[in-house]
Amino acid sequence: MQFVLLARHGRGVRVDRGASVKVINTHGSQVVDTWAFTLSDPRQYSSMDHTRSVNSNIFANRGTMIVSDLREPMLLLSEDTSPGRHDTLLCPCSSPVYRELGWTGHHRSCSDNLHEALSEFDMALPFTPASLNLFMNVPVAADGSVTREPPSARPGDYVVLTAQCDLLVVLSACPQDMTPINGADRTPTDVMIEVMS
Ligand SMILES: [Zn+2]
Repeated sequence: MQFVLLARHGRGVRVDRGASVKVINTHGSQVVDTWAFTLSDPRQYSSMDHTRSVNSNIFANRGTMIVSDLREPMLLLSEDTSPGRHDTLLCPCSSPVYRELGWTGHHRSCSDNLHEALSEFDMALPFTPASLNLFMNVPVAADGSVTREPPSARPGDYVVLTAQCDLLVVLSACPQDMTPINGADRTPTDVMIEVMS
């Protein structure tokens, strides 16, 4: 199955154990916030703090195992043609983030995209777990400070995530257009998603 994930929008896809989801950065400049939920126990979700702990690294790279809050393997980052160093630290964007940045009125967000995608599968969560921020370029300096840089991925770069159990994977083409996180021109773009059995 293959589909275009529209700029600023999210979608959930079922990915069975052993199958993979390929996230293709069509224009090279788009961040994709990603979550996984175990279908046998929807309360189990991809956990960035446990993933950092298990992998002893603050970035996700090729070979990184994304684990759940119960430290069960969920997704293996099995292929990556991008320069890597996908962010695990920063929160998904949300209405309060856009308000802080000075936006008035409604602004699409990765948090809302997650909850909308979950509701399509009759699932609901009372909170928003931290996201795996594919292609998000957030270097960390020696003093611990972080900067928000445009993605260093090139057009067509992709990552492949391989499911370690039956999962719902939610992907959000980040709507952030007030910082350069989705490219210097601050314009969110479409990405291509392929689910490979
Ligand atoms: Zn976002």
